[in-house]
Amino acid sequence: ALIITDDCINCDVCEPECPNEAIYLGEHIYEINPDKCTECVGHFDEPQCVQLCPVACIPVDPQRVETREQLMQKYERLQQEA
Ligand code: SF4
Ligand code: SF4
Repeated sequence: ALIITDDCINCDVCEPECPNEAIYLGEHIYEINPDKCTECVGHFDEPQCVQLCPVACIPVDPQRVETREQLMQKYERLQQEA
């Protein structure tokens, strides 16, 4: 999963573009629910939020490094829940 760092300027651009609705406005800045972020696997070739973020503040969460296979499994689980 990806994580939004405190460099976020709350520009609101990424939130509506997330195919998994993983991005939400937290107490101070936007945040990503790691259980919903597939790094856009299953939807797009590239993480949409990373493509759009004007300040490049969305790296991979070092606490939640996942393989492409794990991300695909998460995608499939989310599809079943939808
Ligand atoms: Fe959403 Fe994709 Fe960004 Fe993850 S990488 S938060 S799934 S837009
Ligand atoms: Fe924050 Fe980047 Fe999302 Fe804008 S696009 S709200 S700066 S994480």
